[in-house]
Amino acid sequence: MQGFGATIFGEMSLLAARTGAINLGQGFPDTDGPREVLEAARSAIADGVNQYPPPTGLPVLREAVAAHQQRFYGLSPDPGTEVLVTVGATEAIAAAVLALCEPGDEVVTFEPYYDSYAATIALAGATRRTSVLRFPDFAVDEESLRAAFSSRTRLVLLNTPHNPTGKVFTRAELELICELARQHDAYVVTDEVYEHLTFDGAQHVPVATLPGMAERTITISSGGKTFATTGWKVGWLTGPAELVSACRTVKQFLTYVGSGPFQPAIAVGLGLDDDYFDGFAASLQGKRDLLVRGLRDAGLDVSTPAGTYFVIADAAGLMDKYGVSDAVDLCWQLPERAGVVGVPVSVFHDDAEAARTLVRFAFCKKDDVLHEAVRRLRTLA
Ligand code: PMP
Ligand code: GLN
Repeated sequence: MQGFGATIFGEMSLLAARTGAINLGQGFPDTDGPREVLEAARSAIADGVNQYPPPTGLPVLREAVAAHQQRFYGLSPDPGTEVLVTVGATEAIAAAVLALCEPGDEVVTFEPYYDSYAATIALAGATRRTSVLRFPDFAVDEESLRAAFSSRTRLVLLNTPHNPTGKVFTRAELELICELARQHDAYVVTDEVYEHLTFDGAQHVPVATLPGMAERTITISSGGKTFATTGWKVGWLTGPAELVSACRTVKQFLTYVGSGPFQPAIAVGLGLDDDYFDGFAASLQGKRDLLVRGLRDAGLDVSTPAGTYFVIADAAGLMDKYGVSDAVDLCWQLPERAGVVGVPVSVFHDDAEAARTLVRFAFCKKDDVLHEAVRRLRTLA
């Protein structure tokens, strides 16, 4: 694991704590999620749900995951054999990649990628092959995607809605990716943790709903984003029984089980009515608009995200003005210069040059915090 070092999220949150800057770096909400969910965790602890849960997760959560997939996507995983509860989406990603890849296999993914993808592929002894999504529209480049596939491709690791770009993959893009996966007889592992965060009517298309894909797809999600409980680390994966069973074998020896009393609480969240899910996306859309406007006023070029709670800005103008060479330098200076923390996008790339001037900001923060961040950033213009 040499070369992986400390994660950018840890580093940037430490920098924010040290300087007192507003932390728009690491993506976590600064308010609590739904009251019913918090209450359910308190009750579970009071009721003694404090020992090891079953290895696949508490039945109440596996059933809630299956019911949620039926309700939103018309999918019907069997809660007994096709759902596995994990310690956050992070463990689900690791379990799936370790279960499906042999050393020397290739994994196709897009860059920028969520940081655990590169590390997990390395842990499996596999090789990543990437296709670059380029600012400002981050469209899939068919030629480079085709070139990333080979006879050694074992799986495609996808993320939609996509962190850090805020891109929601279109149905046509997903169909192309899936066609290539089928041609190469590859599995698809799809990280859909931002499934409920799409804006302006953009539609999240779960990969498992595409024709011929359910049998080769592992779908991953987590309660962290949807219910503002990132610290609880309740995640899950779903897919064909055979693949889920392979993931369970790996998961047993990563953590065995986790998140005991939080599992029934997330089950309550998954069963909340549509108003909750609609209100959640609407609230984040307002925050997105606030930050996008503010960043533009500060002289940055911004790609308006259709999903997630992240926005990418091109800070090339500021870099010229302040004489810094790239976004990494700028992000280290930003707390001093403007009292705000962001994340350089190049850390999510193999090809750092593709994102040399790009900065990611998170907008899952209180409106007054975002207003203050924007006020500070404007002083840079
Ligand atoms: N995948 C993506 C795309 C993410 O942004 C995150 C970060 N929260 C995760 C996975 C990890 O999720 P969890 O906290 O549930 O492990
Ligand atoms: N997913 C969050 C982000 O992208 C943070 C995850 C983490 O800290 N590992 O900012």
